This record gives sequence, structure tokens and C-alpha cells, in this order.
Amino acid sequence: MGSGIPPEPTLRRIPKVCLVDDPRAFLLLKPDCLRLKLSGSVERAIIRAGLRIVCRHRVTVSPADVRHLWPEYDDAGHPLALAFLDRYLTGEPSEVLHLYGQDAFEAARRVKREVRSRHAEGPFANVVHGAERRGEMARQAGHLLGRCDVCAEPFHSDEPPLNPARPPGRDFREDADLAALVDELWPLVQGVPADPGPVRLEGGDTGQAVYLGSDREQTLDSTVTALWHALPGVELRHAVLLALHSGWSGGTPIAVGGRRALDDCLRTLHTHGVRACGKGVT
Ligand SMILES: [Zn+2]
Repeated sequence: MGSGIPPEPTLRRIPKVCLVDDPRAFLLLKPDCLRLKLSGSVERAIIRAGLRIVCRHRVTVSPADVRHLWPEYDDAGHPLALAFLDRYLTGEPSEVLHLYGQDAFEAARRVKREVRSRHAEGPFANVVHGAERRGEMARQAGHLLGRCDVCAEPFHSDEPPLNPARPPGRDFREDADLAALVDELWPLVQGVPADPGPVRLEGGDTGQAVYLGSDREQTLDSTVTALWHALPGVELRHAVLLALHSGWSGGTPIAVGGRRALDDCLRTLHTHGVRACGKGVT
């Protein structure tokens, strides 16, 4: 946990009763941020937001860290999301920036959004992580900063530390080597994820397709699981690409075929809680 910056003496004098307006925040510069040499751009956005960088930590995130930082995903219910996060975040250096300033939580969120709007290139190329909730910020800061003497004072929040559970899916570890699958798909999901084209279901072509849109209530795992059931015989790689492409495009044709097959497909998606779907002309 090296740091070229002197300790920030005021950090230790923050009264512990200050539950909401903690003047501290952090941002995680992901491996792609460092690889693409975007740190300077991020740091200028931090300064524009009125924040100071009080400590820097080079870290190499491990699979265990991923599971500590995002416990709303677990290996049995979210093996796909975790396989992609492992591929994206682990094994290469990241950097944690400990930030200080007025309303640091909100300011750091604004920095994250500004940086992503400028540099993000796809679902696994969004450059920075920052917490969306104060409770999440406090919990993740404890994990990322707790080993540094300067930064170890716990963040304070009056919010629950855990994010709400996210919808799980099938345990696809039974069906495929997910690390190998992610390695194979990785080049196809940089930038806008590749569109693998709709699955052809039974029956003559009606000139219609079932479309899948973006649904933030779902996860990659819950969406792929719904597709697994709604598109009989679909290959896992095909379902993953359909899920990722629809999440980015907002409307991807996932199935063509006869009227009955398309209706069955839609009904199965609804049964699995997918609402952002419907029929349209091809
Ligand atoms: Zn530190």
C-alpha cells in the first residue's frame, strides 16, 4: 500500500458522530483505466469536483476481493456475472484513490459518471468504480482502505452496508467451463457487445421477432437463465451474447419463427420475470 502523498492529518480528527456527511470517499480505477492511461483524466475530474486525493493504493484485485466488494452476487446464483467480473478486474493492477472534500460521496459519484460518459466503451470497460450508496461506500472502503494506516479509520454511514440481493439464475457451472467461455467471448464484448443474431424457433417465418430490451432489475445470470428456457436448445455463448447485446442496445431481436413459438418464447420470458420484451417486425 505505497503512497507518494503525505498523510492527511485532518482525517483522524473526524468526529465519529458524523454519520452522513463523511467528507471521505473513494474511487477504484479499474485495470482498463490504468492500461489506457486515463488516470490523469480521472484526477482532473476529481479536482474539478472539489475533491483532494489524500492517499493512493495500488492493488491487484483477487477473486476473493470481487466477492467481498459485491456480495450481492454469489457463485451459485451469479456464476456468469462473477466470471466476467473476475476476467475484467482480477490479475492486473488497479488503483484506489482515497478522496476528501465537501459532500465527498456525491462528488465522487459525479466524477464516476463524468468519467464513464467520456471513456466507457461497454459493460466490461467502464474504467472506474464508485459506490452508488453510502452504505456500500463505507463497506467497500473498509475492505479496500483498511490495511493502510492513513486510511484505516472506518467510513461512517447510517445506511445498511449491503446492497439488496440481485436476482439469481441457473448455476451454469454445471453446463460449461465459465472461465473458458468468458475468455472466448471477451473480444466480442469489448465496446458494444456483438449481436449474435436471433435464434430460429419452430414454424414458418412470420416476419416478426421477439425483442429483448434493457432491464436493470435483472442480472446477466437471471436474463441468460430466462433465455435458456425461452429459446429451447440455445447455446450458452449465444444466450450470453444476446443478454449482453440487449442490455446495451435497448432492443435486440432474440427469436424468429412461427407465431406459436414466438408466443411461447414471450410467455416463458414473462414467467422468469423479464418484462422488457415484446414482439415486433423484423
Ligand atoms: Zn491510504
